[in-house]
Amino acid sequence: MSRSVHRFREYTIEPDTEPDAEVITFTVHCAVCGEGGPITETTDAAGEWIVTHLGEQPEHLSYREIVTRPYRVAPGRWL
Ligand SMILES: [Zn+2]
Repeated sequence: MSRSVHRFREYTIEPDTEPDAEVITFTVHCAVCGEGGPITETTDAAGEWIVTHLGEQPEHLSYREIVTRPYRVAPGRWL
C-alpha cells in the first residue's frame, strides 16, 4: 500500500507586468477566409491589415482580433 502526502497552496493568476514580461501582441484574421495579418504591438497597426484585405476582398466583412497577453502566477501561502 502506498501513501502520499499533499500540500495545498494559494496562487494568484495575473497579467504579467514585470519589466521582463513578453510584450502584448495583436493580430486580426478574416472570419470569412481565415487569412491573417501581421503580429503587431498595437491594435491600430493590426487593424490596418483589415483595410488592405478589404481592398483585395471587398465582400469579406467579418474579422476577429487575437490578443496575446502574458500572464504570471504568483505563489502565495501554503494552506
Ligand atoms: Zn478574407
